[in-house]
Amino acid sequence: LLVLGSTPVHAEEAAPIYRDSLRAVDERVDDLMSRMSLNDKIGQMVQIERGAADAGAVGDHRLGAVLSAGGSTPDTNSPEAWADMYDGYQRAAVETPLGIPILYGVDAVHGHNNVRGATIFPHNIGLGAAGDPELVRRVAEATGVEIAATGIDWTFAPCVCVARDDRWGRTYESFGETPDLPSQLTSAVTGFQGETLGDSPTSVLATAKHYLGDGATEEGRDRGDAVVDEEELRAVHLPPFRAAVERGVGSVMISYSSWNGTKAHADRYLITDVLKEELGFTGIVVSDYDGVGRISGNRDFTPEEVRTGVNAGIDMIMLSKNHARFISDLRVEVEAGRVPRERVDDAVRRILTKKFELGLFEAPYADRDLLAQVGGDAHRELAREAVRASQVLLENDGVLPLAPEGGKVMVAGKNADDIGNQSGGWTISWQGSSGETTDGTTILDGIREVAQGTEIVHDREGRGIDDSFRAAIAVVGETPYAEYEGDRPDGLVLDDEDRATLTRLADSGVPVVVVMVSGRPLEIADEVGDWNGLVAAWLPGSEGAGVADVLFGRSAPTGRLPVTWMRTSDQQPINEGDGQEGLYPYGAGLSYDGAERPATEEAGEVPSPLPAQR
Ligand code: BGC
Repeated sequence: LLVLGSTPVHAEEAAPIYRDSLRAVDERVDDLMSRMSLNDKIGQMVQIERGAADAGAVGDHRLGAVLSAGGSTPDTNSPEAWADMYDGYQRAAVETPLGIPILYGVDAVHGHNNVRGATIFPHNIGLGAAGDPELVRRVAEATGVEIAATGIDWTFAPCVCVARDDRWGRTYESFGETPDLPSQLTSAVTGFQGETLGDSPTSVLATAKHYLGDGATEEGRDRGDAVVDEEELRAVHLPPFRAAVERGVGSVMISYSSWNGTKAHADRYLITDVLKEELGFTGIVVSDYDGVGRISGNRDFTPEEVRTGVNAGIDMIMLSKNHARFISDLRVEVEAGRVPRERVDDAVRRILTKKFELGLFEAPYADRDLLAQVGGDAHRELAREAVRASQVLLENDGVLPLAPEGGKVMVAGKNADDIGNQSGGWTISWQGSSGETTDGTTILDGIREVAQGTEIVHDREGRGIDDSFRAAIAVVGETPYAEYEGDRPDGLVLDDEDRATLTRLADSGVPVVVVMVSGRPLEIADEVGDWNGLVAAWLPGSEGAGVADVLFGRSAPTGRLPVTWMRTSDQQPINEGDGQEGLYPYGAGLSYDGAERPATEEAGEVPSPLPAQR
């Protein structure tokens, strides 16, 4: 007996085992689960969109997790407002009788990108071009600090998809078209989580997504059907997930897509037999947004879909709404014996384990001392380094690098002075948007900074160019999109505005350097002969100065194509080793010494592969 004041209390009552941070996580989970009702357990399996449930609802229904999907931001989209929002939800959860904290998930896929003022790093395709696992680890670590500063403890990243058809509107979320690059760059998992989840206050739960075969769908259709045999699925699409599991990734998100006609969300073989049993994944399997409801088509869930998804092995169900109905539907399924109680226990055990490992029971609230690091100088410098490393030089007749001193240089193109365009999707809003959406430097800003001894004339359309200019830089390409097939319904071609700008510049006789800001290769075979230099800049994010560093020779280009650059869109799908000849092969990338960098097989030479088996 402990004697507190004059009231004798059992030691067990004073400090339940699950509250004791010195106990092993397994013991804490067992103890906590022994105190939970079926409703408490089912509540833990729900992740609700913040707009659909206020803090009160999260507390009342004992919900396990909240998310801000896409750009679901607090009204004042500042880091402080995010921390306040997070703490509000967390308080409601912590103040329930068992006090189980929530997980809060966001799509921080290239920086803490929903938050205005956060550092926006290059999208994965650019990091794939850089091909440096340690750089990717550092980028994820910095992103983790910005995420943790706002309290958030879970990111739906990295996307480890292997994009096989560039018509897929999420190609830019892929590190590359071969299994090797995405596998090596699961170093992002270590960056987010640390060597072990919870080993530092800024460790956040990472998510390998989307399992399995999202990049394999027919005609690159987003959410489509991957018609491939099991051998190919395992050889091409599974390895990055295996690598992520070996690194201890805390969660895996299921893909909206199907494999040979079966929705991944209903695929017990892939989820339970392969991922959990064969690969030994012990973390949380989370559905995609309303992915369970979409098993049979429309988005709202039925009891059958709930049963199918949970029995397939999904542990946490991400919902846009209707959490109360979900809880009652799953309860009915369990009470009728159609969903085994052991399946619910397995799911809840996985979820609680991650909450304990993250240290949420001990430190549930945002650490506001970290807020100063959101969008701070050190992270922006790292982002600029990542931008530099991701530039791929594809053509150069000697025009590059441009001298930073002297003369006049024209900067043109719709993507020259647009932070929204250079950041792409998942930036402030779900699909992203053009314009001054957040803080940072545009490519034009960067050029002005780096080439201070040169007169920089900016004209979006490239008008007024004459032989008084020593060069023209045309920054063209795509405008933001996040999901579906992107903004190119007519194929992967340059749009009319870009064509007009490029023709105008080419006609001027001034040497033209094209900077392609895009999430994937575009058809340029007919135009490229008019250009003196070509740099693939991908979607660099908020630090456009990194592009300027390479254009003006502050650093030499070292990036290599993480995807084959097709000659024409009708070559899609075109991938390394498939016998087709594109415009530039996988692994291509020039340096300033003029020599072609060795391609392809050296991609495997990138330093620091996987850690030893855990
Ligand atoms: C996407 C996921 C994302 C989720 C939550 C879905 O539409 O497919 O990648 O994590 O939304 O925002």
